[in-house]
Amino acid sequence: MIIASPLPETFWIKANPVPVKAPQFVAVNSALAERLDFKGDFFSKPEALAGLSGNAPFENFESVSLAYSGHQFGHWNPLMGDGRAHLIATLSNGSELHLKGSGATPFSKNGDGRAALGPMLREYIISEAFAGLGIATTRTLSVVSTGELVCRRRKEPGGVAARIAKSHVRVGTFQYAAAHLGPTGVQSLYEHERARCHPAATSPQQFLSAVITAQAKLIAQWMCVGFIHGVMNTDNMTTSGETIDFGPCAFMDQFHPQKVFSSIDERGRYAWDKQPTIAHWNLTRLAESLLPLLSGNQDEAIKIAQIELDKFAPQFENAFEVGMLKKFGLTERRHDDGKFIADMLRTLMEEELDFTLFFRNITNGEVVSAAAHEIWKTRLNGREPDFILMKANNPIYIARNHQVEAALNEAEKGNLTRLNHLCALLKTPFTEQPNSSLFEAPPMPEEEVTQTFC
Ligand code: AMP
Ligand code: MG
Repeated sequence: MIIASPLPETFWIKANPVPVKAPQFVAVNSALAERLDFKGDFFSKPEALAGLSGNAPFENFESVSLAYSGHQFGHWNPLMGDGRAHLIATLSNGSELHLKGSGATPFSKNGDGRAALGPMLREYIISEAFAGLGIATTRTLSVVSTGELVCRRRKEPGGVAARIAKSHVRVGTFQYAAAHLGPTGVQSLYEHERARCHPAATSPQQFLSAVITAQAKLIAQWMCVGFIHGVMNTDNMTTSGETIDFGPCAFMDQFHPQKVFSSIDERGRYAWDKQPTIAHWNLTRLAESLLPLLSGNQDEAIKIAQIELDKFAPQFENAFEVGMLKKFGLTERRHDDGKFIADMLRTLMEEELDFTLFFRNITNGEVVSAAAHEIWKTRLNGREPDFILMKANNPIYIARNHQVEAALNEAEKGNLTRLNHLCALLKTPFTEQPNSSLFEAPPMPEEEVTQTFC
């Protein structure tokens, strides 16, 4: 047997998934399976269902649950770890195969180790949407219904998702190393993650710098498609730069910078416009964990960390500004573009416009808002916007909440039509498809979903 994690044994505990009663595939990602070199009929084999539901080991791997710490909503939790997840394999291309909802582990505390089918399918839909949008993300290989019920807000069918990630190491894994294993633990984790995810970095400082750059770009990309992650705790932020843990997340419909969907984010800590500040806060926790590696002298180490952390804001602002300008068909930057974008976003907010549809409409040359049109026209200064650039940066299809909810509810009852239609559109979100206008449309007032759950 091969241990599923490539990390040293101080970072995991051996743990087997807990078998489920009656596993059945609800969603299978054939395109991803193919890319991972699984044979064409992979999902039809009994071993695939057994492995991806946790009812049998995956190939000859011995599964583990990963240890990590984290700040949850700003509060330090020294020991979290995979309470309902198992890393079941490292694939030949180096990516990790991980089950979520696969039963209690030594990290479960009072949790049941399970997940409801709905949230696992949400993770599938949103991660597919991200892949289609070209935003770095973990992927979902499959979702299995367990034939068992889990107790959440109500009794719900259970599910197990199989996740593919470059690495499951989070900011919280570095915090765990710093808090429990000391400098040698941090050093060994750094060496693994540098080699795996940031091979161009040749020092801990360069590694920190690479993570900061990756996250600055990532958060800008989220915001340019109106995405709100919902639970940006340090244990839900990777050092690889892939988006992870699609819990109570959402793409917003009507634009408001302070929008929050998560049922557990009562104070709006993780609102749309707070995401860069929070990312910087999380990266500061990473930098703190790396301090002993940055220099033997603590003052010197703090100076180095500060130099790198100070690069986050300009990198984020640059990526966000360039990303937003593309949405307006603008290729050249001007010194006052920060103000142009702020004015535009304020107009969208004041006029309560749908974020995605606004950009879709202006891409088609439609005037949606006289005020926004005026600001845009002034900025264009007599030039034509680059409509090809706009088409490539303004998605037609996003995973709109009300459609996701409807797809999940129908899937729970065994009807997968909407789920499959939605996922097919999200693969190529910039291309208009026949018979799909329903999926473009914002929700009717009575359809609007204002809260999402994990
Ligand atoms: P999350 O914010 O969803 O990533 O989860 C935070 C922590 O809670 C992680 O350590 C999870 O493993 C743990 N957790 C979440 N749900 C459960 C559950 N049903 N049973 C056990 N642990 C859980
Ligand atoms: Mg998590």
